[in-house]
Amino acid sequence: MRCSYSVLTGVQCVGTWDANPRHGGHMDGPPGRNLAIGGEIVVVLHGGTEFEAGMNGRSRVALARPEATRLARDVAAPTVLPVRPRSIEHSLAAETHVRALLEEIGESPERDGLIDTPKRVRKSLGFLTQGYQQDPHTVLGTAIFEEEYDEMVVVKDIEFYSLCEHHMLPFFGTAHVAYIPNGRIVGLSKLPRLVDVFAKRLQVQERLTTQIAETLQEILEPQGVGVVIEASHLCMMMRGVQKQSSATVTSCLLGRFKDDEKTRAEFLNLVRK
Ligand code: ZN
Repeated sequence: MRCSYSVLTGVQCVGTWDANPRHGGHMDGPPGRNLAIGGEIVVVLHGGTEFEAGMNGRSRVALARPEATRLARDVAAPTVLPVRPRSIEHSLAAETHVRALLEEIGESPERDGLIDTPKRVRKSLGFLTQGYQQDPHTVLGTAIFEEEYDEMVVVKDIEFYSLCEHHMLPFFGTAHVAYIPNGRIVGLSKLPRLVDVFAKRLQVQERLTTQIAETLQEILEPQGVGVVIEASHLCMMMRGVQKQSSATVTSCLLGRFKDDEKTRAEFLNLVRK
């Protein structure tokens, strides 16, 4: 049920995305027609004014501009972003902005306690968003080995910290990542690294879950992948939207984890313990 599509500007491809059909479900073309279900979607932007979308290379339909823009920006959250070489850690402009923000809050950025705050924020934001400088292919690529093992591999309770993209406040918790090899395995320490590559970006929990699962599926080509994430969101807890004890659970199951009931039950049982 995975669908992939490219967004093109003229002849220049500006990105290739894998989208979860759950997210792509509202990529409607003409009324009543859901383009996201059932296969490959190609969206073509002609000089930024006309849009076309095709499913499985056929049934091309025009797509309204807002729809195509939203698709490119939100729905089609790229699984593999182009690696951004420069971290905010090296951006002195960021300090200026933080100082302005402090003033807007009503603080005086010159007082002792705050004088180095812009620098500290710049550095810590650099650390918390360092995933933008990391390519998951590089992270996993060095540790993939041929191996005939074909039982489920599960790494449980991977601690992670991320920032919600709506409020830039932390959400954090544990990720459970599993796969069933198909002739190749990956070094176990790489799975927490993979989680981190995507966690250290501005995220929503749903996309974080999907990106981890789909990237592992894409790179390792196993028989299936299962990812479950349990997290607490400070944007909800601190702002009193939600009871403080509640956790948000998301999952993404691919291949045998999705199709085979026994595999799915075994995985969900293992991560519940
Ligand atoms: Zn939030």
